[in-house]
Amino acid sequence: MKTKYFLYARKSTEDEERQVMSIEAQLAELDEYAKRENLEVIEKFIENKSAKSPGREIFNEMMAKVKDSKEPLGLLAWHPDRLARNSIDGGQIIYLIDTGKLTSLRFPTFWFEPTPQGLFMLQVAFGQSKYYSDNLSENVNRGIRQKLRRGEWLSLAPLGYVNNPKTRNIEPDPVKAKIIKKVFEEFAAGKHTLASLGERLSFFGVVSRNGTKICKSTLQGTLTNSAYIGVIDYHGEAYEGKYEPIVSRATFEAVQRVLKDRAKPRKNKKGHNFPFVGLLRCGECGAAITAQYAHGNGGTYIYYRCTKRLGPCSQRYLREDLVIAQLKQAISKVALCEDWTEKMLAQVDIWEKDTAQSSQTFAQNLQIKIKEIDAKLDKLVNAFLDGDIDKEIYLSKKDDIVRSKAEFMQKKADFGRKGNLWIEPLREWIKTAHHAEKLASSQNFYEIKIFMEKIGTNRRLLDKKVILDFKKPFDLSLEYTSIYDKKIFAQKASKNPSFCEENPQCPRWSGRLDSNQRPLAPEASALSQLRYAPSAIKTSADACRRLSGRHHFSSIFFFSSSESAESSLSSNLSKLFTALS
Ligand SMILES: [Zn+2]
Repeated sequence: MKTKYFLYARKSTEDEERQVMSIEAQLAELDEYAKRENLEVIEKFIENKSAKSPGREIFNEMMAKVKDSKEPLGLLAWHPDRLARNSIDGGQIIYLIDTGKLTSLRFPTFWFEPTPQGLFMLQVAFGQSKYYSDNLSENVNRGIRQKLRRGEWLSLAPLGYVNNPKTRNIEPDPVKAKIIKKVFEEFAAGKHTLASLGERLSFFGVVSRNGTKICKSTLQGTLTNSAYIGVIDYHGEAYEGKYEPIVSRATFEAVQRVLKDRAKPRKNKKGHNFPFVGLLRCGECGAAITAQYAHGNGGTYIYYRCTKRLGPCSQRYLREDLVIAQLKQAISKVALCEDWTEKMLAQVDIWEKDTAQSSQTFAQNLQIKIKEIDAKLDKLVNAFLDGDIDKEIYLSKKDDIVRSKAEFMQKKADFGRKGNLWIEPLREWIKTAHHAEKLASSQNFYEIKIFMEKIGTNRRLLDKKVILDFKKPFDLSLEYTSIYDKKIFAQKASKNPSFCEENPQCPRWSGRLDSNQRPLAPEASALSQLRYAPSAIKTSADACRRLSGRHHFSSIFFFSSSESAESSLSSNLSKLFTALS
């Protein structure tokens, strides 16, 4: 007669935790083993208690059933150490074998024969930690496979995450995750070196275990750790993590670009730390603008000048304060006043609500895409397992698929959270432009330089003038500032008494911009694109009221899933400006 089996699986104890032996994994392997070996399992016993000390309820229940059974039975477990790790339980099993109640013990990892030698080996295996540790490595690999399949983080949580023993995965630390997100964004914006990043983190209270600043090499590892976008990298293979990413894919990639750029050898020599070196090029010859100290007018001043490395050049020195004044002027051109900022942000809130609905459809489409990818992955794995494709192809294809899935998941998460991808950048842009107002009167030269790099390209110094092309969408501010400015002049010229009576603040651009301080004329190309209808607005107070007619605007927000977030941002920003102008 064929022996019937009881299957027994037991959870790991805390001190065995590192071998990541889950019940789920044990059961999966045991089921497979039973099938392969053609064993008939009549009952499963799953224990949550450790086998270290006697008194396991399920185990005792099983043993009682074995004793009461009319026919001899067999036991199936992953390894003898699952069954018994103390002499009492071990002795009980040996006794049942001796009395013929148990005729077979089967383990996928251990060969047992009911001979005196076999019994001796079994006793050794029971409760023998050495034997146990010999098998550790195999168990580890199996456990790791299982964990990766489930998208669980394998080891100590990376900075910004905490291990959650309940889910056996990691989750964002409520505080540190925010800090990590912030420093990634700052680093992506080029605000940091690895050293200053360490300082920034220690400013936020994030330090190494011994309380010192986190070292550069650790930070390098942190900045390149794909864990933050939800991808588990295990021996060069990418696995989809089933935990919440902290950093957006776009930010992460921007950080990688910055790191790559930094890796290139730097040409500039060390020396004085002049704030605006590297910001401008010579407008005449294209050489870099450098700085130096020079004496004059009874003091020592910083001067900026062309390096003249590219040949003869007639450009002359410019004193730092005169450079700064011009930079501030440029910044104030894109600065948004308080009033407009509030109105714009309010409108963005409305759009966000509307967009949330439209994007639901989009999210559903994403879900379909994700399912397709899953199916693709499934097919690929099958093809590999069936030996239809090489391991190399399999790995590279799998990598692609996992990464693109993570990308779609991120997109989906973004939609769920923000309504749409352009909303947050638009809001961010408005806040940045508003911040420019403060910046235009600040003495934080470092920040001014970074801001200049953000808003302008082709920055040059020509005939003591700072010239630049405004980047999108900052060019819009300039466009609308000049319209507004023209209107003020027109109104002042006609001595319109109703000018901004109701709201003298509105729509004032940066407080720095005096009405008699005309900004530079906008570029002809910018003016040709204007859709401004002067007759529609009599006073700037009218302009403010126009935006209150929210119905009109909320129905025309721009949304298209095929459009890039960047162009959506620009077109919606332009709508805001049109409404306010
Ligand atoms: Zn020059």
